Amino acid sequence: MRQSFLFTRTSKESPKDETSYNARALVRAGFIDKVAAGIYTLLPLGLRVHQKICRIISEEMDAIGGQEVLMPALTPKESWQATGRWDSFGALFKLMGQDSREYALGATHEEIVTPLAKKFVFSYKELPVFIYQIQTKFRNEQRAKAGLLRGREFSMKDLYSFHTDKDDLSEFYKLAQKAYFRVFERCGLLDHTYLTFASGGEFSKYSHEFQTVTESGEDTIYVCGKCAIAVNEEIIEEQKACPNCGNKKLEKTKAVEVGNIFKLGTRFSRAFGFAYTDGEGGQHDVHMGCYGIGPSRLLGTIVEVYHDEKGMIWPDKVAPFKAHLIKVPGDHPGLSKAAEELYRNLEGAGIEVLYDDREDVSAGEKFADADLIGLPLRLVVSAKTMKKNSVEVKRRDEDKVELVALGEIVRRLS
Ligand SMILES: [Zn+2]
Repeated sequence: MRQSFLFTRTSKESPKDETSYNARALVRAGFIDKVAAGIYTLLPLGLRVHQKICRIISEEMDAIGGQEVLMPALTPKESWQATGRWDSFGALFKLMGQDSREYALGATHEEIVTPLAKKFVFSYKELPVFIYQIQTKFRNEQRAKAGLLRGREFSMKDLYSFHTDKDDLSEFYKLAQKAYFRVFERCGLLDHTYLTFASGGEFSKYSHEFQTVTESGEDTIYVCGKCAIAVNEEIIEEQKACPNCGNKKLEKTKAVEVGNIFKLGTRFSRAFGFAYTDGEGGQHDVHMGCYGIGPSRLLGTIVEVYHDEKGMIWPDKVAPFKAHLIKVPGDHPGLSKAAEELYRNLEGAGIEVLYDDREDVSAGEKFADADLIGLPLRLVVSAKTMKKNSVEVKRRDEDKVELVALGEIVRRLS
């Protein structure tokens, strides 16, 4: 994509009403636009990252048998009354329709997915089933802050699993944990993310969160250095040692909850009368689990973890483009032609490239923009590099600069 074509632009000023790093950097670099507190538009650069994160999540959910659906964001009051959550779910966005009926904007979808599965699943032969979606979710937060880390409207992948019994649920629960770690690995967050024990419910002692360590996190966790797992502060009084190895020297740190998984047991299947028939004709409640992960929150978290004083540093697999090609205005007859040709060749080879072809912008401003936007590779074509018939290559996360022959570079990046 040509940078001159982008309708968004970078800004030198940080937005004054944003306190979190992720919101300030993403707004400055033109990835997101703030509409109101906790409500953002994803701009072309931000949307590209979001789509990549969603694709990674979908692929990993499909790999463990997930079937994707899209449930409505607008949900009727009656569904929530069936589980008692119309009154007990504190952050539910409630609204009144012209038909004088009340609705909620979905904050989670157990109330929709359970009756949905009940329409198709009757026998043990049809279990287990794994249904997921990537949807916009709403939380009626008192105060929305921390940019994409805590919004009133945000994206969420929620998967729901349905099983004949506890053991089958436990087996899938472990499989889902592994799938989550593959997601974090591909998003570049594996080394910063801990499986964290949190409070369970009626059906299990614990639930599990995936917490990414960063100073800007709202949660406090206690990390076991030996096992790379952690305990959420909310249960540290009852769980003072590592649940895995018994280590009592846990390290307190701030973190962002980027995902969570929970054994729901029969809480929701009972509320909707969702039972199955076994081989002998007996009826049993279906066991359920739910598995959430927030793509928009992941996007903000990646920015919190990967940045320096100049701007963002995107991990390769979620960067909006792989390379930032910069044409530095200068005195060399072949410069423009060489830069254009390189851009076309990179695109032709399927390499995602943002091409800073702007004519009226200084080299210094272009470099500052490239650092702020933070694409993994910076390629510079200037009068100086043209003398050696080459392009200057630098990784965003390294200082080393290298000259590569113009004729070589596409092959090097492919
Ligand atoms: Zn441990």
